[in-house]
Amino acid sequence: MSQNEFDVIFIGSGPGGYVGAIRAAQLGLNTAVIEKDKTFGGTCLNVGCIPSKALLESSEHFLAAQEELGHHGVNVGSVSLDLSTMLKRKDKIVEELTTGIDYLFKKNKITAFQGTGKFKGPHEVEVTDSAGKTQTLVGKNIVIATGSVPRPLPGLDVDGKHIITSTEALSLPAVPEHMVVVGAGAIGLEMGSVWGRLGAKVTVVEYGSKICGPMDAKLSKRLQQILSKQGFTFELDAKVSQAKVKGSTVTVSIERMKKGDTLEVKCDVVLVAAGRAPYTKGLGLENVGLSTNDRGVVEVDRHWRTSQSHIYAIGDVIPGPMLAHKAEEEGVAVAEIIAGKHGHVNYETVPSVIYTWPEFASVGKTEEELKAAGVSFNVGTFPFTANGRAKALGHTEGQVKILADKTTDRILGAHIVGPRASDLLGELVVAMEFAGSSEDVALSFHAHPTLSEVIREAALAVSGRARQM
Ligand code: FAD
Repeated sequence: MSQNEFDVIFIGSGPGGYVGAIRAAQLGLNTAVIEKDKTFGGTCLNVGCIPSKALLESSEHFLAAQEELGHHGVNVGSVSLDLSTMLKRKDKIVEELTTGIDYLFKKNKITAFQGTGKFKGPHEVEVTDSAGKTQTLVGKNIVIATGSVPRPLPGLDVDGKHIITSTEALSLPAVPEHMVVVGAGAIGLEMGSVWGRLGAKVTVVEYGSKICGPMDAKLSKRLQQILSKQGFTFELDAKVSQAKVKGSTVTVSIERMKKGDTLEVKCDVVLVAAGRAPYTKGLGLENVGLSTNDRGVVEVDRHWRTSQSHIYAIGDVIPGPMLAHKAEEEGVAVAEIIAGKHGHVNYETVPSVIYTWPEFASVGKTEEELKAAGVSFNVGTFPFTANGRAKALGHTEGQVKILADKTTDRILGAHIVGPRASDLLGELVVAMEFAGSSEDVALSFHAHPTLSEVIREAALAVSGRARQM
């Protein structure tokens, strides 16, 4: 093989591309990765999962110092915000993780190319670096892992200062007085939480009639009540029809579809968080007879193959939930298939998390989906209020809900609003992966006192056996 010939080329180094490349290299494939940005790691590491969680953590501490530590008898005097240090901490975490990918590429003997990849022929990808220099790579197999970008909305011209996307929301130079968030999904609620805790008034405008997208309706309602108590204002069944910037003020027109009126709101920042769009700009799909569908996604078969059998696509650029762990699993599965193994992703057990406080974590089917499918099921719920550890933490809001098949008791879905719900959900994902029943979870030890005991109680409640209520 010549220097620029590879068994597999991954275009994009997000969680799909970099994790897939590492697995391919582990399986002995001569592997390359092409990345157009200066750093590796894609949306997730640079402007997504990681920086948002760093800021969520810092803003939680800010709020705890103001409102919670006193209850523990810990007096900290007056609390002030050093936003610059908070943002630098976030940047340092991002830098450590993105340079860590560089190290992983070298360790696994993956050849990384910095530049934009464009198909020139079925097996040829031209890489153009930032200086405009080009070189052509040849791949026996090529994986499109080019991810997604914030979805624009008509009437909202992003200027990066007053009308922003999640990327700018991660680095605002000052706390806004009033932030209008367009979209009540994970990104909008998380970034709204960050800036709300730091002092901004937050108004969330949502087109649908509930927050949290398709997640469990009752728990979404519960989370909405909790966030309202934290200071969020919600306008549901409403859309932002336009936002006009004058000086440092944005006048936002909110069309309230149910009420049939239009509300004018003044704010200093509008965050557009109405979803993300798959990204294939400049990739030259047309040069290899590929195209995207009307939603901009690259269609693949169940082995992630495009209509060209040696060109695969994974992650945010294909249909399915736009989540880092979903992209990673697809990256691994594709690497295994290319290496002649049996790559597999169980889409029934992809967890979803909204990292508000309390968090909202979910896996499998909701009650609404099961009812619509005509599936008979039992429900077990248990609140955090009755849990000793939650009381010790001082965070007792929320509950665990487990849905199990009425006949077989197999767990079909699990939904948690509560402290560290993201971490708690793990055992239910594993239980579902093993086709476990609510009884399996109920009969398993859960250390005392832990938050996970709420899961056990909810599992017991499926058959009416909860003990602590
Ligand atoms: P990406 O991570 O988008 O990576 C694609 C890469 O391809 C990019 O680096 C891009 O520069 C590169 N690229 C594109 N075109 C080319 C080209 N032609 N040549 C070379 N390189 C190219 N998900 C979670 O699971 N949990 C979370 O908590 C979470 N939080 C998020 C918070 C925010 C604010 C945002 C914006 C997203 C969040 N996500 C979260 C979503 C998650 O970041 C994405 O689902 C994930 O990054 C998708 O991975 P990917 O590999 O498909 O694409």
